[in-house]
Amino acid sequence: MSSAIENSVAQMKYPPVENYIGGRFVPANHDHLDVFNPADGAVISKVPLSSAAEVDAAVKAARKAFPSWSATPIKERVQVFFRYKTLLEQNIDELAALVTEENGKVDSEARAEVLKSAELTEFACSLPQITAGEVLEVSRGVECRIERYPIGVVASITPFNFPNMVPNWTIPNAIALGNCMILKPSELVPISAGRIAELLREAGLPDGVLNVVHGGQATVEAICDHPDIEGISFVGSTRVAKIVYRRGTSNLKRVLALGGAKNHLIVMPDAEPDMTAGNVVASMSGCAGQRCMAASVMMAVGKTDHIIERMVTRMKQVVPGRNLGPVISREAKQRIERYITEAEEQGAKVLVDGRGYVVPGKESGYYVGPTLIDHVRPEMRIAQEEVFGPVMVVIRSRDLDDALKVENESKYGNAASVFTESGGVARYVMEKASAGMVGVNVGVPVPREPFSFGGWNESKFGVGDITGRGSIEFWTKSKKITTKWNKEAGVNWMS
Ligand code: NAD
Repeated sequence: MSSAIENSVAQMKYPPVENYIGGRFVPANHDHLDVFNPADGAVISKVPLSSAAEVDAAVKAARKAFPSWSATPIKERVQVFFRYKTLLEQNIDELAALVTEENGKVDSEARAEVLKSAELTEFACSLPQITAGEVLEVSRGVECRIERYPIGVVASITPFNFPNMVPNWTIPNAIALGNCMILKPSELVPISAGRIAELLREAGLPDGVLNVVHGGQATVEAICDHPDIEGISFVGSTRVAKIVYRRGTSNLKRVLALGGAKNHLIVMPDAEPDMTAGNVVASMSGCAGQRCMAASVMMAVGKTDHIIERMVTRMKQVVPGRNLGPVISREAKQRIERYITEAEEQGAKVLVDGRGYVVPGKESGYYVGPTLIDHVRPEMRIAQEEVFGPVMVVIRSRDLDDALKVENESKYGNAASVFTESGGVARYVMEKASAGMVGVNVGVPVPREPFSFGGWNESKFGVGDITGRGSIEFWTKSKKITTKWNKEAGVNWMS
């Protein structure tokens, strides 16, 4: 390392990020990217852009670990995750601080993310009970049973918005089910992944069962092309989900790729005003709107001005730098502000304007204030594309079917919610919404374990869901076994 680089590294809060292969942290001799703290723009670390050679080394380590790990009974495998869950809880201060540092979200959100990781791990601990096999006497003296086997070496590619939680969507279930994994975290938030690997080692996970390889596009392409990776889960934008799904499946791997979102909240005139305003604002502004479950379009049906007025009041209590974190990068801030300006130029009315926000003392932070834009039309870009910032647009609609039509025509299909006091209206929306996760009077309708997380349309490619029961089919292959032991059992054309 040149002395100039050594000096700049010495000034960083964290040492350069290293890959974790076969139970050891290994430096990568490659190009590095800077890692920023989005709250003040400071460079806090460097992340390597790993090549196919590092991916291959990680796959070799995973393949070496696989025979012994997959042969370990599942009741023994989950003991690691009982200990890991405790370690997540014991280390929550430090883990949440890391999330805040590299992603920017406020402390309460970062803590909630780590607690969600613990809940995901709790589900993995119950997998022995949930996956206990099925047996049936299918004809006299003849039994059929199902056994589940891990698929082998798998990869998990994750986005920037939940540096702790999204890796824990896949690690506990995939590994408890007997697979060995290569994790490729987002290059924007690579630091949490190293701590996750360390805690799993402390919990007793054998070397090579989890490996972490950092990088960007080339690293992901090497994963998609590696002949010894059997399955890939991906979480990120729809653009990249399509690339990974196509490349991975064309190499004959199973792939589950979750993409972006544009979530509609349908607000009826009978909705409870305060509860609705509170839920809608929390949904659009939580994690600075950088959640694939964040509300971004409010379909205001009929007379809802009294609710919109309450939303304006509540948004003024959401203050960047205090209870609203920054967005991930300078480019993201500029992109979000461009969407707002374009909508305004096209005739929409900006009721609350978060553009140009500067937090005193954090002038270089990437803050966007909460933004509410009324009278947006369905054909505008801001109504159709994922903005991924604390921005909510209001589209006025005549009736419920009009509102549902807009929701149904979105190319995405992650979440949709309805706010109403009417059971009949709620039931109608549950049935007609074109989304994988639907809420009634819920701003962020994330299904909690054992229910599964996964959208429809261009929000998910592949079969199965990424968490909960829905992930079991993806992370395993089933063997159907037919047995006959007593010679009295009849012979027929089936068995
Ligand atoms: P992204 O698609 O830019 O990156 C995701 C991953 O893909 C990263 O690990 C990145 O290194 C890699 N990548 C980026 N460009 C690539 C390319 N050209 N080829 C191969 N790999 C590439 O997503 P992001 O910006 O990190 O995350 C935000 C997006 O993720 C939003 O669209 C959000 O809705 C989505 N998201 C979806 C869910 C869900 O459950 N559906 C959950 C969280 C986030």
